[in-house]
Amino acid sequence: MVVRATVITRIGPANRLGSLTNRDNDHVDPPPPDGSGVIVARGFDVDYGRGQLARMLDDLGSWVAVTQPEPWALLAPGLPAEPDRVVWAGDLRPRHLDRLAAELPAGAAVVGIGGGSAMDTAKWLHHRTGARLVQVPSLPSVDACFTRMTALRDGGGVRYEGDSVPDVVLVDFDLIWSAPRALVAGGIGDVLSCHTGLHDWALGAAAGRDAPWDETAAARAREYLDDLEQLAPLLAAGDDQGVRMLMECHRDIGWLCHDLGHARFEEGSEHFWAYAFEHVTGRTIMHGELVTLGVLTMSTLQDNDPERPRRIADTAGARTDLDQLGVSWDEVAAALDRLPSFVEDQGLWYSVANGLELGPDRLAAVRRALRVPSAG
Ligand SMILES: [Zn+2]
Repeated sequence: MVVRATVITRIGPANRLGSLTNRDNDHVDPPPPDGSGVIVARGFDVDYGRGQLARMLDDLGSWVAVTQPEPWALLAPGLPAEPDRVVWAGDLRPRHLDRLAAELPAGAAVVGIGGGSAMDTAKWLHHRTGARLVQVPSLPSVDACFTRMTALRDGGGVRYEGDSVPDVVLVDFDLIWSAPRALVAGGIGDVLSCHTGLHDWALGAAAGRDAPWDETAAARAREYLDDLEQLAPLLAAGDDQGVRMLMECHRDIGWLCHDLGHARFEEGSEHFWAYAFEHVTGRTIMHGELVTLGVLTMSTLQDNDPERPRRIADTAGARTDLDQLGVSWDEVAAALDRLPSFVEDQGLWYSVANGLELGPDRLAAVRRALRVPSAG
């Protein structure tokens, strides 16, 4: 188990404008009472437990739920008070989000409940209106509840904008474990992406492109991957501690992105492939699962120890077979085919995707990495 003793800087709700110095900046999480190792992360305030939102509603007063049908159906029956309004998340185009912000009841708190699109929508409403913000992630699949900017879908790609810090992130283990275990395990994707992201960052730095190398940040990112190795079996076993450790990784990653001013250590060609997949197919699957596929694919094309992310994903019990994910090999290959021009069109960071050449051997290697039976 890993216990980190680095200097901790906590970004509290008092600090909405980007400065890293605030009145809460020397807070260090106490060790857990049972003495077991939990990653000591920096980042937004988090409350781990069960049923926290129900207890918080009195304090919130009028509130708007920004959510998705499944998590809302699970959480709503246990709440003592209904929201003023339920806003369905899903459409992340800026024009739609701005219309939602204009229609937000004055003085209402915004509570994001669900996956990445709910978190991102809630962040944007907070960013535009200054409403109080509480985030209740339903899966540990996204770091969206721990990052400040909203991932807007704009112009056929993704654009990050805004600066939102929630009052608190409520990690409700009952809500999390109400999802199938494999989906919870899919939450590793945005941490596993450090494996390929670091490699691409090194390529970019060596090429003199984008953000220069930062060894301290890179070392931290390697620690997240070591943590994943440790928490993977806990996730597979349905252990709260696995969720907590994974969320602490996401939390620290959100902090590090903000501190560095970029996300190169955790966002590289695996994410770019995922965006290209969304672009060529016009649809998406759960973000963490899509990014995990991207890591397995791109680590192969990077010649970057693809066995490690494969081992972690399998140990965690994440779904990676295309059949399970409802993805066809043709879609994977089409996204790969489009990838080199896509990263140029979108002006994405330099990575192995730039100038990527895919001969039959390379495609066959990806096929094997994804356990797709070879074509006749
Ligand atoms: Zn991501």
